[in-house]
Amino acid sequence: MMARMAEELGRAGKVLLAAHRDPDGDALGATLGLMHLLQAQGKEVFAHSAGPVPAEYEFMPGLDRLSPAMPAPDWPDLAVLLDCHDPERAGAAAADFLPRTRRIAVVDHHLGRADFGQAVWVEPDYAATCEMLGFMAGEAGWAIGPEAATCLFVGVQTDTGRFSYSNARPRTYRLGAELVELGADPWAISQQAYSSSLARLKIMGRVFAGLKLVAGERVALAKVAQADLAELGAVSSDLDRVVEELRAIRGVEVALLIKELKGGGVKVSLRSRGRVDVGSLAIGLGGGGHKNAAGVRLESGMDEAEARLAGLLARGLGEKA
Ligand code: AMP
Ligand code: MN
Ligand code: MN
Repeated sequence: MMARMAEELGRAGKVLLAAHRDPDGDALGATLGLMHLLQAQGKEVFAHSAGPVPAEYEFMPGLDRLSPAMPAPDWPDLAVLLDCHDPERAGAAAADFLPRTRRIAVVDHHLGRADFGQAVWVEPDYAATCEMLGFMAGEAGWAIGPEAATCLFVGVQTDTGRFSYSNARPRTYRLGAELVELGADPWAISQQAYSSSLARLKIMGRVFAGLKLVAGERVALAKVAQADLAELGAVSSDLDRVVEELRAIRGVEVALLIKELKGGGVKVSLRSRGRVDVGSLAIGLGGGGHKNAAGVRLESGMDEAEARLAGLLARGLGEKA
């Protein structure tokens, strides 16, 4: 499928790129990385993101090209959905636009069935969408300039927890090295992508202060209300890496962070280590992800979400113990 995707992209002259809303390093890296790769081949690219872009990614080359809008419906020869495989995940504008485009390609590494698009390359075996694009560009012999290399490096680095999660394989490190040779500067990138702020550290402090261990201390659970964010001047993406800290607690097998959403409902981030498959759990609740990292939006309040998930996890851990 990798070669077929390269061909598919090679055939198109005007390409729309979109990844999931609330973008992370991989969503932005894939959108901007592919934009640079296609532009180097003389193609016209419209790069869409529903946003918001976290402050630490504002340095990414080409970021000023990202648009929250959409081109005219008949403009793209091909629309490419990246780092997700459900148009709803890409936000309202994309969910409305994509089904009306001529042809859709999907490049993603999340679990689950992709029943959307004509050219679909979804392989959960890859650590990052940027990893897929990096290999594809290499195999196809595409020119990879320093800007594309930087964007792809950000996606691989952030989706592998700086090359430390179980999804990082020998080929992942090799690609990292190649991207550095092509002009990605790991120190310069890390200074930005892992930068912080006072508000971020304060909201993290508050989350850690309210943290609980449940289910025989095998589940770490924390909640964040909109009022906490507002009081400390923090934004939702300031919490993006908190759940990984919860999973790092010795003895903890599953970590849960429950964030209250502005418009009602909650976003739950799940992480596990070892055998617990939080990806399947999230898919069962209408979300998605990977075996050890997943997320879901629920229409309930924070306490209700906590009770539901803690119950599911206690049963899951009990059965497998
Ligand atoms: P997060 O907790 O938001 O960092 O997400 C962990 C993983 O699950 C990422 O790979 C996300 O792309 C995926 N994910 C998060 N939320 C959802 C959702 N609502 N639907 C599908 N996948 C999700
Ligand atoms: Mn992502
Ligand atoms: Mn990803």
